[in-house]
Amino acid sequence: MPLEVHVGFDDTDSPLGGCTTYIGARLVEILAEKGFAFLDYPNLVRLNPNIPWKTRGNGAVCLRLSVGGEGDYEELKETVLAFIRSHYEKAWKDTEPAVAFLRGSVPPMLRSLSQKALRRVVEPREALRVLRACGGEALELEGRQGVVGAAAAVGETLEGDHTYEAVAYRLPERRGEPRAVSFDSVVEMDRATRPWTFNNLDPETGRVLVTPRGPDPVLLGVRGETPEAVKKALSMVETGEKPERWAVFRTNQGTDAHLGETVKIRDIPPYSAVVVEGFVAQPPQTAPGGHVIFRLKDATGEIFCAAYEPTGNFRNTVRALRVGDRVKVYGGLRKAQPLGPRTVNLEKLEVLETAPVVEFRSPLCPRCGKRMTSMGAHKGFRCEKCKHRSSTLRRVPFPIPRSLSSGLYMPPPRAHRHLTKPLSRYGLEKAGKPGSPPRPEAFWGLGPPA
Ligand SMILES: [Zn+2]
Repeated sequence: MPLEVHVGFDDTDSPLGGCTTYIGARLVEILAEKGFAFLDYPNLVRLNPNIPWKTRGNGAVCLRLSVGGEGDYEELKETVLAFIRSHYEKAWKDTEPAVAFLRGSVPPMLRSLSQKALRRVVEPREALRVLRACGGEALELEGRQGVVGAAAAVGETLEGDHTYEAVAYRLPERRGEPRAVSFDSVVEMDRATRPWTFNNLDPETGRVLVTPRGPDPVLLGVRGETPEAVKKALSMVETGEKPERWAVFRTNQGTDAHLGETVKIRDIPPYSAVVVEGFVAQPPQTAPGGHVIFRLKDATGEIFCAAYEPTGNFRNTVRALRVGDRVKVYGGLRKAQPLGPRTVNLEKLEVLETAPVVEFRSPLCPRCGKRMTSMGAHKGFRCEKCKHRSSTLRRVPFPIPRSLSSGLYMPPPRAHRHLTKPLSRYGLEKAGKPGSPPRPEAFWGLGPPA
């Protein structure tokens, strides 16, 4: 009797981040060679990006397989744990990785846990309780923090909107060396594969976004809409070195999965991903460091919203806001500031309705029609041309044309969170799992992708 098995494992907190997908890619090889059948592409599940104790992308991986029976399940478990343990000892020093196993289909309770882990804070105790209540088990290799991501990865079956990422990994001896990925080949790949790939380059700066920095085993990763498109795009990039391996992940990256229902300002919990609708209550101000901050209000309270310096020209949009503008903000509450005001770190801004802005100007002279000059507060107006004076005339409202129109505005791709849906993906959303289990050669291989 074939048995469906889900194996989730958590990201690491270490500066060696990116290891989780690499561990996933290595495990895919080991399990495929042992003859285990995969039910889905390896899933790369990004979770709430506003959790401060997760240093990087807050990503976890889940492998979904079919095994022959209980005996095979035990073998699978031992294989996975042995591999993760050996790699944990070498590379994962100050982290708390965990592995979650679940047999059978994923129950609604575990799916709900994943939804919460995308938007809010989930305590390890809660994740463990839900996983066990669903018949799953967690094996923590160090501490307990990792169990949240491991369980949430199992629970996020990516049946709503999803994307793919094809990742190439470096040979061990190349890690830490500068990458020599050809800029021109990325430009050409981007031109040839859009809109089936996204966020390859940052249009504002020309920066290549497919390569991470640092000692990460990832050489480059291309994100897009289909496994075929991302694999082909990956093969088009001249990497300047032979990759150790490649893998294609199905993922919630670029889907806005973390941005749920609109919440009231009063109800925003710390470290959450939020959507809030309200009115601009205080004009935008540029703070030291170039951050642009304004105050938003709704019927329940007020909160600050910030477009930080790395969001580039997006800040010009935010600066164009005026008091009374009706907006919807998308973002995250990251820092706990017990005394300071709560601040939403803006990922997107939707201008729903701009308020009329008027400027009060001196009246026109009733005798000659020239604009008069104020003689000081409450002292009336004087005409410089015909010398007419008046103490009864008042300043008159003058409508100022708005530079900002209604619509959705976003920071440039270089400032996006992994989960943020880029403008180029609007209209490309999809739902459902792959119809039939993918063949292994569709999602992993050694060397460069063919
Ligand atoms: Zn006059």
